[in-house]
Amino acid sequence: MNNINEKWNNILAKISKDISAISFDLWIKTIEPLDYNENTLILSTRTKIAKKQVVNNFGDLLARCASEEFGTDVTIQLFSPEEKEEYLKYNTPYKDAPQDTYVERSISGEFNPKYTFENFVVGQSNRFVYVACKTIAEHPSERFNPLFIYGGVGLGKTHLLHAIGNYIKKNSPKLKIVYVTCENLLNDYVEAIRFNSQNDRIITNFREKYRNVDVLMVDDIQFISKRTSLQEEIFHTFNDLYLKKKQIIFSSDRPPKEISTLDERLKSRFNSGLTQDVQAPDFETRLAILQKKAFIENYSIDDEALNYIADKVDTNIREMEGFLAKVVFLANLKNQNTATLEDAKEALDNYMETSKESLDANRVINVVSEYFNLSKDDIIGKKKTKEIVSARQICIYLITELLDLPLTAIGEIFGGRDHTTIIHSRDKIASECKEKASINVAITDLKAILTEK
Ligand code: ADP
Ligand code: MG
Repeated sequence: MNNINEKWNNILAKISKDISAISFDLWIKTIEPLDYNENTLILSTRTKIAKKQVVNNFGDLLARCASEEFGTDVTIQLFSPEEKEEYLKYNTPYKDAPQDTYVERSISGEFNPKYTFENFVVGQSNRFVYVACKTIAEHPSERFNPLFIYGGVGLGKTHLLHAIGNYIKKNSPKLKIVYVTCENLLNDYVEAIRFNSQNDRIITNFREKYRNVDVLMVDDIQFISKRTSLQEEIFHTFNDLYLKKKQIIFSSDRPPKEISTLDERLKSRFNSGLTQDVQAPDFETRLAILQKKAFIENYSIDDEALNYIADKVDTNIREMEGFLAKVVFLANLKNQNTATLEDAKEALDNYMETSKESLDANRVINVVSEYFNLSKDDIIGKKKTKEIVSARQICIYLITELLDLPLTAIGEIFGGRDHTTIIHSRDKIASECKEKASINVAITDLKAILTEK
């Protein structure tokens, strides 16, 4: 075995087919392969809670997929961050040690074959954005340049970008088309800067990679950080492509004017093109999406069951697809050929029950303290070490975001602090969340855990 990461990626691909996208993103994608030793695959999770979740819910699946990948019976051992640290004190993992040299990230040019225009269901909510994307795919750079699409999570933005990619690859194979998520672009840039002193071709190569293209797509641009040098870089790339009449497409969860970290000059550039939103689909569109999905995945499921799902899950399509898979999975467990309304009810009622379990301040405090491995008293008490203060502020921020409590009441919970202290903590984290990756990751994780249905 040469590379554990490579094996792990294959395992991930297998697992992703068997569980909902939400569970995958939340619990599986965040796992890190640590070591492989005598048929035991050692994995580490980002938090203790994640470890518990994975052991309870996905342990068997992990073992099955790993055994398939390694071609032998593999046992899985999961470590929490503390256990990982302990392990690393006494063991040198098999995994290749990271090298401190620049490895150029190549852009794969591969698009998800399932994300095509044919597989995209058009309804009131997404008609305009669909037309804009289709037009661009057929005639890049002629109209709608730049295109900025925005809308809530799981409404099909990434699907449409990949559809453009798939279409152009097939119909105009000579065109060079680059798709990158904002996160990868950022990592790529940071690496290029870091190693540029070793070899000053690196930054030039980075530029060429993104400027020497016919179509550039940047997904989830809302994650752009305030780092001005990167904004500068993107701004010049943008101008360069625009002057050369190359197609530029950005996606985001909100309109440009609401991305507080986005450079004003870039915002104004978007006004010269088309900014179009995707909305949440209506019932008919949701049902049509489910039917199409069931067809593509070869699921056998009653119309009544599909109706029920479309009726109950009405915001996020990814989540809706997750339920569809769950219902079919449940029917399979019971050895039925076709999933029925009963299965749908069973799967969804379960979900409704747990989502009703109300979130309260106590739970937020418990989860945050567990997440940072601190005690509950640390979180609500008076200790002033940097680590504790930061966790406490994150906790306050989450309570203000997720619960409808008066600031004075929150102050009370945190040992009788004044409401201005609460406001200060909230605002501090709100702005740090945009600037510091570590805070951003913690907030995203914690929100996901706290709102997990
Ligand atoms: P976003 O990027 O907006 O968060 P995605 O593009 O990842 O959302 O879409 C989430 C899931 O929903 C994907 O599996 C996608 O195929 C599916 N989806 C979203 N909109 C549609 C649609 N109109 N027709 C078919 N599938 C859709
Ligand atoms: Mg997306």
